[in-house]
Amino acid sequence: MVNVVVRAPLRFLDQAIFAPRPLTSWEAYWALADSRKAMTGQPPVPRPTGHNPTISAWARVDDGRWIADCPHGCGAAFNLPANSTWFWCTECAGGGQGHTVALVWPEGAERLTVNLESLPTTLQFWPCAACRPHLADGAGVCPSCRGMQGLEV
Ligand SMILES: [Zn+2]
Ligand SMILES: [Zn+2]
Repeated sequence: MVNVVVRAPLRFLDQAIFAPRPLTSWEAYWALADSRKAMTGQPPVPRPTGHNPTISAWARVDDGRWIADCPHGCGAAFNLPANSTWFWCTECAGGGQGHTVALVWPEGAERLTVNLESLPTTLQFWPCAACRPHLADGAGVCPSCRGMQGLEV
């Protein structure tokens, strides 16, 4: 029997949102958001004025996309540019502080990617729903989620 492995690549910002030009950076995304808002007469999205490394946003996988939730609790989540080391929420302008925050990628991200990409997109979630709150408070994830990262469980 031939075992055919079909990989479903995880998507970063440039593969998650289609745009006239690929969205390979936060700045490119803001420009797209500005142009969409301009069509309805809305002001441009807020830009950061500084960086606060003491606050972290945590990268996770949702339906095959790398995203992070706003760490200021406004409820927004954003598709992540590949290799980004910081995060900015245009919805609440960094909790009204105007600062970007650190973006933390999961330990073992390479192994995690390989494991998740062996699944269909509809099953590409990490961490599990129960672990999601723990991810943000640094308490760690469950053995199953650690196993996906290729870490000791
Ligand atoms: Zn926010
Ligand atoms: Zn878990």
